[in-house]
Amino acid sequence: MPSPPAADSPVSDPNHRIYLDHAATSWPKAQGVAEAMVDFMTNVGASASRGNHASAMKANELTRSLRSRLTRFVNAESAECISFHAGCTSALNAVIHGLVGPSHAIGKDSHLLVSAVEHNAVLRPILMAANSANAMLEEVPSDAHGSLPVDELIGRINDATRLVALSHVSNVTGAVQPIADIGEAISRINQSRDASNQILFLCDAAQSLGYLPIDVQALGVHALAAPAHKGCGGPPGIGMLSLSPQWHDQIQPWMQGGTGHDGRSDEMPPSMPQKLEPGTMNLPAIAGWLAAMDSMATRQESALVLAERSQQLHRGLNAIEGIQVFGRPGPLPIASLDFGPDLPPDDAAAILDAEFRIEVRAGHHCAARIHKYLGTESAGTLRISGGHGTNPEEIDAVIAAVAEIAAQITSLT
Ligand code: PMP
Repeated sequence: MPSPPAADSPVSDPNHRIYLDHAATSWPKAQGVAEAMVDFMTNVGASASRGNHASAMKANELTRSLRSRLTRFVNAESAECISFHAGCTSALNAVIHGLVGPSHAIGKDSHLLVSAVEHNAVLRPILMAANSANAMLEEVPSDAHGSLPVDELIGRINDATRLVALSHVSNVTGAVQPIADIGEAISRINQSRDASNQILFLCDAAQSLGYLPIDVQALGVHALAAPAHKGCGGPPGIGMLSLSPQWHDQIQPWMQGGTGHDGRSDEMPPSMPQKLEPGTMNLPAIAGWLAAMDSMATRQESALVLAERSQQLHRGLNAIEGIQVFGRPGPLPIASLDFGPDLPPDDAAAILDAEFRIEVRAGHHCAARIHKYLGTESAGTLRISGGHGTNPEEIDAVIAAVAEIAAQITSLT
């Protein structure tokens, strides 16, 4: 297999690693995140909404600040629209199980549309909720790069359709879906329906929040779920749901517990966001996410830089013979590839790690169905994903390493 990097290569430094697994989680985290978390743990430590002492007030203030910051960031209608969850997965479960079910707003005989590129964090709760509601689930196919056919998707909406769930960006190929066009079509259809029969447009922004601008009102997205730990550069263990006001009365609390409000009641408070936020909040993560948002506000890097990295990555990979590349140049430097039957993605990732100190991910990436359309069902793909801070040298290094591995395979076959 390929020889290790030359002694004068930056990769020859034993402490050097090239981290290209940003689609799993970003690293390094944004400036100030670790410090803010340590500061909270060291100097505050209190719970939010659970006391009137000075430290509890500081915890309240952090939560309030992050909520209002995110309200502005995604242009939600008000701070009540933003609820905090244990991650993007929890936020998705809260909205899906809160609105789809046997005695829920979206119930029996509803038609639910999901795309073939969905992550299991969307697909699995929807499958379970659709089953228990006796609703019908339909999958919209993607092309061989993970892009969805907009007209076909819109054409599949029928009178019974009550939910359209889409990932903004595919975590396998980086394909950016045209959610504005789909949101506009759904808004048009909703205008002709009464309030009890509206379509919920759910967008999984796990791969886009912090990378692409998101305006939920302009995009016509009613529910948007995202974590702190990817494009925002924040910590894991916290995520948000933005839910538009027309769904606030209809959503049922998915989890029950203490909220610090209405403590004598046997039931969850009816108001948003408290009704979706049982349990003690992850305050260190809230402090970290807030610091990440501060850092983002002052970051010099432009969207153009990420798009340039994407061009560079795809151009380089597409010039390599003997591999298949999935995804197209776009706003984010993500690509999946396949070396063919002689080198499974897992082995290719192990070689990149061991011999080049390049960290990427192999497998199905928790999105099994898209692989039907890529033709990579059995072993999945090798995914290369850069993020904020990924530099051109790192992209060149991974292209050179992939070329070297591909050349070795070709010479052996
Ligand atoms: N959706 C997509 C598209 C993802 O890539 C991920 C994370 N890999 C999730 C949802 C779930 O996010 P989390 O693991 O942060 O809950």
